[in-house]
Amino acid sequence: MTKGIQVAIDGPASAGKSTVAKLVAKRFNYVYCDTGAMYRVVTLAALRAGLTMDQADKIAELAKQIKIGFQPGEPEQRVFLNDDEVTQDIRTAQIDNNVSAVAAIPAVRAEMTNQQRQIAANGGIVMDGRDIGTTVLPNAPVKIFMVATAHERARRRYVENKEKGIATASLEDLQKEIELRDQKDSTRKVSPLTQAPDATRLDTTKLSIDEVVDAISEIIKKTQEQL
Ligand code: C5P
Repeated sequence: MTKGIQVAIDGPASAGKSTVAKLVAKRFNYVYCDTGAMYRVVTLAALRAGLTMDQADKIAELAKQIKIGFQPGEPEQRVFLNDDEVTQDIRTAQIDNNVSAVAAIPAVRAEMTNQQRQIAANGGIVMDGRDIGTTVLPNAPVKIFMVATAHERARRRYVENKEKGIATASLEDLQKEIELRDQKDSTRKVSPLTQAPDATRLDTTKLSIDEVVDAISEIIKKTQEQL
Protein backbone atom coordinates (compact mmCIF):
# COMPACT_ATOMS: atom_id res chain seq x y z
CA MET A 1 0.00 0.00 0.00
CA THR A 2 1.39 3.42 -0.87
CA LYS A 3 1.40 5.86 1.97
CA GLY A 4 0.27 9.41 1.29
CA ILE A 5 2.55 12.08 -0.06
CA GLN A 6 3.49 15.51 1.28
CA VAL A 7 1.49 18.41 -0.18
CA ALA A 8 2.85 21.94 0.44
CA ILE A 9 0.51 24.90 -0.06
CA ASP A 10 2.00 28.38 0.26
CA GLY A 11 0.89 31.88 -0.57
CA PRO A 12 0.14 35.34 0.82
CA ALA A 13 -2.31 36.15 3.62
CA SER A 14 -5.96 35.19 3.15
CA ALA A 15 -5.45 33.54 -0.24
CA GLY A 16 -7.78 30.76 0.93
CA LYS A 17 -5.00 28.30 1.72
CA SER A 18 -6.46 26.96 4.97
CA THR A 19 -9.96 26.42 3.59
CA VAL A 20 -8.64 24.65 0.53
CA ALA A 21 -5.92 22.68 2.33
CA LYS A 22 -8.42 21.33 4.82
CA LEU A 23 -10.78 20.15 2.06
CA VAL A 24 -7.96 18.58 0.05
CA ALA A 25 -6.78 16.74 3.19
CA LYS A 26 -10.31 15.44 3.78
CA ARG A 27 -10.60 14.21 0.19
CA PHE A 28 -7.38 12.17 0.42
CA ASN A 29 -7.77 11.26 4.10
CA TYR A 30 -4.55 13.12 4.86
CA VAL A 31 -3.59 15.07 7.97
CA TYR A 32 -3.97 18.85 7.67
CA CYS A 33 -1.48 21.20 9.35
CA ASP A 34 -2.02 24.97 9.49
CA THR A 35 1.46 26.35 10.17
CA GLY A 36 0.19 29.94 10.32
CA ALA A 37 -1.81 28.91 13.40
CA MET A 38 1.45 27.77 15.02
CA TYR A 39 3.05 31.22 14.60
CA ARG A 40 -0.17 32.77 15.85
CA VAL A 41 -0.09 30.62 19.02
CA VAL A 42 3.50 31.70 19.74
CA THR A 43 2.43 35.33 19.27
CA LEU A 44 -0.51 34.90 21.65
CA ALA A 45 1.72 33.22 24.25
CA ALA A 46 4.22 36.09 24.00
CA LEU A 47 1.52 38.74 24.41
CA ARG A 48 -0.03 36.86 27.34
CA ALA A 49 3.41 36.69 28.97
CA GLY A 50 3.62 40.47 28.68
CA LEU A 51 6.51 40.35 26.21
CA THR A 52 7.04 42.98 23.54
CA MET A 53 7.82 41.94 19.99
CA ASP A 54 11.42 43.12 20.21
CA GLN A 55 12.23 40.57 22.96
CA ALA A 56 13.33 37.98 20.42
CA ASP A 57 15.32 35.75 22.80
CA LYS A 58 12.51 35.52 25.32
CA ILE A 59 9.92 34.80 22.61
CA ALA A 60 12.15 32.08 21.15
CA GLU A 61 12.53 30.52 24.59
CA LEU A 62 8.77 30.60 25.06
CA ALA A 63 8.24 28.99 21.63
CA LYS A 64 10.26 25.99 22.83
CA GLN A 65 8.42 25.70 26.15
CA ILE A 66 4.80 25.88 25.03
CA LYS A 67 2.83 22.99 23.57
CA ILE A 68 0.90 23.76 20.40
CA GLY A 69 -1.97 21.34 19.80
CA PHE A 70 -4.55 20.68 17.10
CA GLN A 71 -7.82 18.79 17.25
CA PRO A 72 -10.31 18.18 14.46
CA GLY A 73 -13.25 20.58 14.54
CA GLU A 74 -15.97 22.17 12.38
CA PRO A 75 -16.00 24.61 10.69
CA GLU A 76 -12.32 24.89 11.58
CA GLN A 77 -9.63 22.87 13.30
CA ARG A 78 -9.40 23.55 17.06
CA VAL A 79 -6.12 25.05 18.26
CA PHE A 80 -4.58 24.76 21.73
CA LEU A 81 -1.90 26.59 23.68
CA ASN A 82 -0.90 24.02 26.28
CA ASP A 83 -4.33 22.88 27.59
CA ASP A 84 -6.10 26.11 26.74
CA GLU A 85 -8.28 26.31 23.61
CA VAL A 86 -7.27 29.41 21.62
CA THR A 87 -9.04 28.77 18.30
CA GLN A 88 -10.71 32.21 18.35
CA ASP A 89 -8.04 34.08 20.35
CA ILE A 90 -5.43 33.62 17.61
CA ARG A 91 -7.63 35.30 14.96
CA THR A 92 -7.85 38.79 16.48
CA ALA A 93 -6.53 41.98 14.87
CA GLN A 94 -3.93 42.18 17.66
CA ILE A 95 -2.47 38.83 16.58
CA ASP A 96 -2.72 39.79 12.87
CA ASN A 97 -0.68 42.89 13.60
CA ASN A 98 2.05 41.20 15.64
CA VAL A 99 2.47 37.76 14.11
CA SER A 100 4.84 38.78 11.29
CA ALA A 101 7.31 40.19 13.82
CA VAL A 102 7.29 36.92 15.77
CA ALA A 103 7.58 34.88 12.56
CA ALA A 104 10.67 36.87 11.56
CA ILE A 105 12.64 35.68 14.62
CA PRO A 106 15.09 33.05 13.31
CA ALA A 107 15.05 30.89 16.47
CA VAL A 108 11.25 30.84 16.45
CA ARG A 109 11.29 29.69 12.81
CA ALA A 110 13.87 27.01 13.59
CA GLU A 111 11.66 25.60 16.35
CA MET A 112 8.47 25.70 14.26
CA THR A 113 10.22 24.20 11.23
CA ASN A 114 11.44 21.32 13.40
CA GLN A 115 7.99 20.63 14.77
CA GLN A 116 6.45 20.88 11.28
CA ARG A 117 8.92 18.41 9.80
CA GLN A 118 8.07 15.94 12.55
CA ILE A 119 4.35 16.34 11.86
CA ALA A 120 4.95 15.74 8.12
CA ALA A 121 7.51 12.96 8.48
CA ASN A 122 5.13 10.09 7.68
CA GLY A 123 3.63 11.71 4.57
CA GLY A 124 -0.11 11.82 3.99
CA ILE A 125 -0.09 15.49 4.89
CA VAL A 126 -1.35 18.79 3.52
CA MET A 127 0.61 21.61 5.13
CA ASP A 128 -0.10 25.26 4.44
CA GLY A 129 1.96 28.35 5.19
CA ARG A 130 4.54 30.66 3.65
CA ASP A 131 7.75 28.60 3.47
CA ILE A 132 6.56 25.01 3.28
CA GLY A 133 7.69 24.37 -0.31
CA THR A 134 10.89 26.37 0.05
CA THR A 135 12.15 25.48 3.53
CA VAL A 136 10.05 23.11 5.62
CA LEU A 137 9.40 20.39 3.01
CA PRO A 138 11.67 21.20 0.05
CA ASN A 139 11.24 17.65 -1.29
CA ALA A 140 7.45 17.64 -1.20
CA PRO A 141 6.29 16.08 -4.50
CA VAL A 142 3.35 18.49 -4.73
CA LYS A 143 3.87 22.22 -4.18
CA ILE A 144 1.18 24.79 -4.79
CA PHE A 145 1.57 28.57 -4.61
CA MET A 146 -1.88 30.14 -4.24
CA VAL A 147 -2.38 33.79 -5.09
CA ALA A 148 -5.31 36.20 -5.49
CA THR A 149 -5.54 39.99 -5.71
CA ALA A 150 -5.30 41.84 -2.38
CA HIS A 151 -8.77 43.24 -2.98
CA GLU A 152 -10.29 39.79 -3.41
CA ARG A 153 -8.41 38.42 -0.39
CA ALA A 154 -9.69 41.28 1.79
CA ARG A 155 -13.22 40.66 0.55
CA ARG A 156 -13.04 36.96 1.42
CA ARG A 157 -11.59 37.72 4.81
CA TYR A 158 -14.34 40.26 5.52
CA VAL A 159 -17.05 37.74 4.68
CA GLU A 160 -15.29 35.03 6.72
CA ASN A 161 -14.98 37.29 9.79
CA LYS A 162 -18.67 38.15 9.58
CA GLU A 163 -19.64 34.49 9.24
CA LYS A 164 -17.51 33.49 12.21
CA GLY A 165 -18.76 36.39 14.31
CA ILE A 166 -15.24 37.82 14.64
CA ALA A 167 -15.07 41.61 15.10
CA THR A 168 -13.91 42.86 11.72
CA ALA A 169 -12.23 46.00 10.45
CA SER A 170 -13.59 47.69 7.32
CA LEU A 171 -12.82 46.18 3.93
CA GLU A 172 -10.31 48.96 3.25
CA ASP A 173 -8.49 48.48 6.55
CA LEU A 174 -8.40 44.72 6.06
CA GLN A 175 -6.80 45.17 2.64
CA LYS A 176 -4.17 47.49 4.16
CA GLU A 177 -3.44 44.97 6.95
CA ILE A 178 -3.13 42.13 4.44
CA GLU A 179 -0.79 44.13 2.17
CA LEU A 180 1.38 45.19 5.10
CA ARG A 181 1.64 41.61 6.40
CA ASP A 182 2.55 40.32 2.91
CA GLN A 183 5.20 42.98 2.63
CA LYS A 184 6.72 42.02 6.02
CA ASP A 185 6.51 38.28 5.25
CA SER A 186 8.10 38.71 1.81
CA THR A 187 10.99 40.87 2.92
CA ARG A 188 12.15 39.13 6.11
CA LYS A 189 15.65 37.62 6.10
CA VAL A 190 14.82 34.02 7.04
CA SER A 191 12.51 31.96 4.80
CA PRO A 192 10.61 34.86 3.23
CA LEU A 193 7.33 34.27 1.46
CA THR A 194 8.33 33.31 -2.06
CA GLN A 195 7.27 30.79 -4.67
CA ALA A 196 9.43 27.66 -4.86
CA PRO A 197 10.77 27.25 -8.43
CA ASP A 198 9.05 23.86 -8.75
CA ALA A 199 5.68 25.00 -7.35
CA THR A 200 2.50 25.26 -9.42
CA ARG A 201 1.09 28.79 -9.27
CA LEU A 202 -2.68 28.97 -8.89
CA ASP A 203 -4.42 32.33 -9.21
CA THR A 204 -7.68 31.84 -7.34
CA THR A 205 -9.11 35.34 -7.82
CA LYS A 206 -11.83 34.10 -10.15
CA LEU A 207 -12.09 30.51 -8.94
CA SER A 208 -14.54 28.99 -6.46
CA ILE A 209 -13.28 26.94 -3.51
CA ASP A 210 -14.43 23.74 -5.23
CA GLU A 211 -12.56 24.63 -8.41
CA VAL A 212 -9.33 25.18 -6.47
CA VAL A 213 -9.79 21.95 -4.50
CA ASP A 214 -10.42 20.05 -7.77
CA ALA A 215 -7.35 21.56 -9.45
CA ILE A 216 -5.07 20.61 -6.56
CA SER A 217 -6.63 17.14 -6.27
CA GLU A 218 -5.87 16.51 -9.96
CA ILE A 219 -2.23 17.47 -9.42
CA ILE A 220 -2.00 15.13 -6.41
CA LYS A 221 -3.55 12.23 -8.33
CA LYS A 222 -1.23 12.71 -11.31
CA THR A 223 1.79 12.93 -9.02
CA GLN A 224 0.77 9.77 -7.16
CA GLU A 225 0.48 7.90 -10.47
CA GLN A 226 4.00 8.92 -11.41
CA LEU A 227 5.57 7.86 -8.10
O1 C5P B 1 -1.52 31.78 7.43
P1 C5P B 1 -1.71 32.86 8.46
O2 C5P B 1 -2.19 34.13 7.85
O3 C5P B 1 -2.54 32.42 9.62
O4 C5P B 1 -0.25 33.12 9.02
C1 C5P B 1 -0.02 34.09 10.01
C2 C5P B 1 1.42 34.60 9.90
O5 C5P B 1 2.32 33.57 10.30
C3 C5P B 1 1.90 35.05 8.53
O6 C5P B 1 1.54 36.37 8.23
C4 C5P B 1 3.41 34.87 8.65
O7 C5P B 1 3.99 35.98 9.29
C5 C5P B 1 3.54 33.67 9.58
N1 C5P B 1 3.80 32.41 8.88
C6 C5P B 1 5.10 32.15 8.50
N2 C5P B 1 5.42 30.94 7.95
C7 C5P B 1 4.48 30.01 7.78
C8 C5P B 1 3.14 30.26 8.13
C9 C5P B 1 2.83 31.50 8.66
O8 C5P B 1 5.98 32.99 8.64
N3 C5P B 1 4.83 28.81 7.27
